Amino acid sequence: LTFEQLGLHPKTLKTLAQNGYETPSPIQAELIPLALTGRDCIGQARTGTGKTAAFMLPTMERIDLAEPAVQVLALAPTRELSEQVMMEAKKLCGGRIKLGIGVGGRPIHLQIRDIENGAQGIIGTPGRIIDLLRRGALNLDKLKVLILDEADRMLDIGFRPDIERIIKQCPKKRQTLLLSATLPPPVEKLAQKYMTDPEMVDL
Ligand code: AMP
Repeated sequence: LTFEQLGLHPKTLKTLAQNGYETPSPIQAELIPLALTGRDCIGQARTGTGKTAAFMLPTMERIDLAEPAVQVLALAPTRELSEQVMMEAKKLCGGRIKLGIGVGGRPIHLQIRDIENGAQGIIGTPGRIIDLLRRGALNLDKLKVLILDEADRMLDIGFRPDIERIIKQCPKKRQTLLLSATLPPPVEKLAQKYMTDPEMVDL
């Protein structure tokens, strides 16, 4: 199986080749074609399986490059993980998409500036994203895809109320992708409440 067969944009295929991505990993082979249909998806996958590219590649296809609004929001449990997702996303989009980060412990004015400069994708932790929403710096009216990465860890940390507050500010008509190493009842409950007929990918 090749990335070409998964239905990705030729520009993305070029960027993948330039970065040495030759063959899709199992989670990528399963999740990319499913997510490209626009359906909600739950992927059970650990770090190191290529899960970041599995959710970022199909998500990037849905971004309207001419629209200077936040169209994608990826939530992750920690600053470090958000920064990792950011690095991977930057690599995969080859500079075509404007990305911003929203994590604690870093100057918020720089994060606000990136949003004001037309960020189309935001990656961050629930606490700081709430802060950006409260300040009116972040608006999710044009959101197309919401990603919940390491959902089990986010719930363990106690981010459930923040996640719910954020989801309530997202358009109802959106795609939600949830990634989690494990699917304990709290994760299933979150999915049941906020996802529409999700397709499961379990490897
Ligand atoms: P992740 O599981 O998303 O943390 O990814 C683990 C590492 O594998 C990252 O450094 C990626 O850049 C790399 N990677 C992901 N998918 C591929 C692939 N299909 N080919 C080569 N490297 C990959």
